[in-house]
Amino acid sequence: MARIAQLAAERRFLQIARPLERTGFHNYATKSVAGSVVIYEKVTPLSNTIVPDSPPPSQYDLQRLHDFVNDSKRLVVITGAGTSTECGIPDYRSPNGAYSIGFKPMSHQDFVSSEQSRRRYWAGSFAGWRRFIGAKPGPTYLSLAQLETKGRVRGMITQNVDRLHFKAGSKPIELHGTTHEIICLNCGELTDRHLFQNRVKKLNPEWARAVEALESGEAGSDANFGMRIRPDGDLDIHERFFRKENFYIPDCKKCNGILKPNVVFFGDNVPKPRVDLCMSLARSADALLVVGSSVMTMSALRLVRAAADMGAPIAILNIGPTRADDLAHLKISARSGEVLPQLLDMGSMSVPSS
Ligand SMILES: [Zn+2]
Repeated sequence: MARIAQLAAERRFLQIARPLERTGFHNYATKSVAGSVVIYEKVTPLSNTIVPDSPPPSQYDLQRLHDFVNDSKRLVVITGAGTSTECGIPDYRSPNGAYSIGFKPMSHQDFVSSEQSRRRYWAGSFAGWRRFIGAKPGPTYLSLAQLETKGRVRGMITQNVDRLHFKAGSKPIELHGTTHEIICLNCGELTDRHLFQNRVKKLNPEWARAVEALESGEAGSDANFGMRIRPDGDLDIHERFFRKENFYIPDCKKCNGILKPNVVFFGDNVPKPRVDLCMSLARSADALLVVGSSVMTMSALRLVRAAADMGAPIAILNIGPTRADDLAHLKISARSGEVLPQLLDMGSMSVPSS
C-alpha cells in the first residue's frame, strides 16, 4: 500500500516538475526560478574528482524535501564542507576528501606549541590563499541564498571557513570561524587576512616571488609541485621552503603575540558566545536542514541534537553517512548542487506567515 502511495506521489511530482537542466556541477546554465532568473556562474573546480559520485536524487526525495522546506516557518540550515567541493575546495571526510589522500589537519595544540608547525601552516596557507579566495560559490550556495531571499530560511550556520556563503550573498554564523581573519592569541586583536598576506610578502620577498611563480602556472599545475589544496586553504609544501632562516612569520603589531587564522582548529573549542548564538538559533528552529556535512564535529552534532530535542524534524542532504542519521526524518544522499536548484525550480513554495 505504501509503495502504491509512493508511486502515485512520484507520478504527481513528475507532472509538475520541470525538466531538469542537468549540465553538470561545473557548468550550470541560466534557470528560471519562480519568475526570477538565477544565473549559476560557471564554476571550474581544481579537480572534478573531489565531489563524491552519487546518483541523481529521486523525484520522491525531491518532493519530500520540498514539503519539508515548505511546511516550515522557522527553517534553520547548517552547512559543511560538502557544499564547497563543487567549488573546487576539498572536504576532509568524503570518499574523495583530504583524509583519503593522507592529509592530517592542523591541531590547535600543534599550532600553539610548535613554532615549526606554525611555520609549516603559514607557508602552506600563504601559498594557497590566492587560489583559495579565487573559488566561486557553486549552485548549492547560490540556491541557499535564493531560499533566504524568498524568506524560507530563518538562519544559517556554516562550518565552512572559506566565506563562499558571503560571496553568494548570505551571512551565516561561522561556527568554526574563518580564514579571512587573523586573531592574536595573546590580545585577541583581529586583522584582515589580506593585510596579513601583505605583511608575509614584505617579510619574505624572495619566498613570495617563488610562490607567485608557482601560482602563475596553468590551472591544475598544483600537481606539478605535489601540492593539494585543503578545506582550510592550506597547501602541503616541502620543509625546505619554510626553515627558520628562510621564512619569517609576522606577529601581532600591538603586542607581538602569536597570530593565528581566526579558525577553530581541531582540538580547540568554539568560543562560548558563538556557541550560545548558534544554540539559540538551532533551538528556535521548527525544522533543521543539514547540507553537505557528515556532522562529525561535536559542535555541529550538538546543534542538530538541540533542534531535535525541541521537536524540530531534521532533514539531511549529504552524500554518505552522517553522525546525525539516526536523528533524521529525511535523508537524501545526493549532490546538493543538483538537489537544491531543482527544489527552487519547483517554485511553488509559499512564504511563511511568521
Ligand atoms: Zn596581540
